[in-house]
Amino acid sequence: MNDIARQVVQMMHEFGVAGLPRNYELFYEAATGTNKELHKGLTALGKDPKQEDLDDLGRQYFAHYHGERVMEEARTRIALQVTEILIMLRKEQASLQKYGRVLGDTSQKISGSALRDEKLLEQIVNLLSDATVSTIDHGQKVVTSMNQTSAEIQDIQTELDRYKKLANTDPLTKLANRRAFDSHIAHVGDDKKSDMYLALIFADVDHFKRVNDTHGHIVGDKMLAYVASIMQSVVDPDAFIARIGGEEFAIAIDNTTEEAAGQHAEKVRAAVEDRKFVSRKTGINYGPITVSLGVCMASEATDSSDLYRKADQALYASKNNGRNRVTTFSELPAGTGKTVKDWLLYRGK
Ligand code: GH3
Ligand code: MG
Ligand code: MG
Repeated sequence: MNDIARQVVQMMHEFGVAGLPRNYELFYEAATGTNKELHKGLTALGKDPKQEDLDDLGRQYFAHYHGERVMEEARTRIALQVTEILIMLRKEQASLQKYGRVLGDTSQKISGSALRDEKLLEQIVNLLSDATVSTIDHGQKVVTSMNQTSAEIQDIQTELDRYKKLANTDPLTKLANRRAFDSHIAHVGDDKKSDMYLALIFADVDHFKRVNDTHGHIVGDKMLAYVASIMQSVVDPDAFIARIGGEEFAIAIDNTTEEAAGQHAEKVRAAVEDRKFVSRKTGINYGPITVSLGVCMASEATDSSDLYRKADQALYASKNNGRNRVTTFSELPAGTGKTVKDWLLYRGK
């Protein structure tokens, strides 16, 4: 078991917390220290916390917990609307049946009596007119209700769209997150032709730990957001860019060649290297900041995990050869890096 895993299990044990996967997730986040507020919240609960209090924390800090709630609310709201529509339609049906009966009765009365009877004729006209007015009235109520229902369903749609965005966005850099990136490249391996023109670029900030150690985590966070904005300003508008880990970014480019993707990666590398990381307020220089990159074409991989692995190997070669450089998977000598498994994604986790 790695250190973090051991620390998490120990913390859970000390706090007297049930060994549920969702509790593990909470304590994992707290142990890695990426979420200070969550850490504070957990500490505040003290020993032997109630499961519902732990779940409340989960809902507060994790998008997917939040997602469950959003989905459940949406389902309940939609079910309510559907029930209301059904009740309304049933009432409408009953009202039309009643109107039909009035018409039927009236037609019988008309055919069974002498139309010269003025009093009867007047009664019939009044009856029909009342029934018609009440039916129109009822119809209008149905239309109003239907309009309200469709507005409510529109609201639910907007709320779901908002949630979807939240669930796919990294809050620090506002880039897409790992979940969104995974689903963006999930099709790799399905169609050889489109794989020919899809490139994956991995970028990892060099010696980022030093930034945190020297200037603190808050400055580290700001730097990450800044690096993200630099990347976004130089990559193609069509490229899909995401923060897939702490100081790790991924870029997927469609309709490209290996050469063009390599140039793209080089542009990112140079842009980060050239940028000054000097605080305007204090004049402190946090730089230089550089990134190492790895490039791999989807056609080199059997599926998306294989593509991750190979872009990762190319990145590892960049790190190994002195950092602040770009390596393309296809240029690795056969066998190079192949023994280094998932360096970027699992190293240190
Ligand atoms: P290398 O050049 O080999 O990539 O060195 P490195 O120091 O960048 O890599 P390492 O994996 O050793 O450390 C990455 C560091 O990134 C560890 C952690 O402190 C920091 N980090 C990860 N996520 C975040 C984050 O969200 N905010 C901040 N401020 N730091 C983070
Ligand atoms: Mg890293
Ligand atoms: Mg790094």
